[in-house]
Formats: sequence, structure tokens, C-alpha cells
Amino acid sequence: MDIKHYRKKFKENNLRLTKSREAMIEVLDNQHLTFKDIQRGLAKKGFYNVSTIYNNLDFLIKNKIVVELYINDTKFYDLAMDNPMHSADSHIHIMIKDTNEITEINSPEIFEYIQKHPFFKDLDLESIRITISAQRKKK
Ligand SMILES: [Zn+2]
Repeated sequence: MDIKHYRKKFKENNLRLTKSREAMIEVLDNQHLTFKDIQRGLAKKGFYNVSTIYNNLDFLIKNKIVVELYINDTKFYDLAMDNPMHSADSHIHIMIKDTNEITEINSPEIFEYIQKHPFFKDLDLESIRITISAQRKKK
């Protein structure tokens, strides 16, 4: 993770990157985290204020820097800005039940395939959000 890259992006979009927002982005890097996980990660960095955490999350979600995912009734947060695996609007996540691990795949052809479905011929798709539940194959 290169925070300088985020600083540049924020500036380009006229967004304010505060120290606590920066810390939140660092905590979320490469992970799918619950609010509690984020809180724990930020506490390690010296940020404890819960309402600031809520406000920053809200801000980052509104600006499509972070996305919310609902998987098995739990809300997870994920970095979407410059995530090589997905954008804020279209993503494919996999919950591996054996380990409760959440991972993601990058597969634009799946989105293209869905877009080409006759049902969508007169529609512009705004988002495609796929959640797959899986288990390791028994050997
Ligand atoms: Zn993700």
C-alpha cells in the first residue's frame, strides 16, 4: 500500500485526507473487516474515537473509496479505490466457510457476460455485486 497514491487521489478529487482517514485506509488495506476489526486496528494506531470512525467510514463509503459488503448477515468493509480486484460498484466475493475467510476474484468477463443477457438490453447496469459461499472439497 502506498499512502502517497491515496493522498494524490484525494487531492485530485478535492477530498480531505485527515490522519484518521489515512489510518483507516491503512487498516483496511488488503482485508475485509468488520467494524470491530477496524476499531481494533485503529486503536493500535492511537485512534479511539468511535464517532470519528463512524463519520470517516461514512465519508469513505459516500466517496466510493470503501464499500460495504453483507456476507452471512455480517457487514464487512473493503477498500474499493484502486483495488486491483474490483471497483466500488462491481465485485465478486467468496466466503470460504471452513475458515470464515473472505476473498475476491477479478473476472471482468463475468460482468460482461451478465451485461449481455437479453434482459438488460434496455438497461444500464449500475452495479453487479456477487457473493459466493464455498467449502473446501473433501479429499
Ligand atoms: Zn474485496
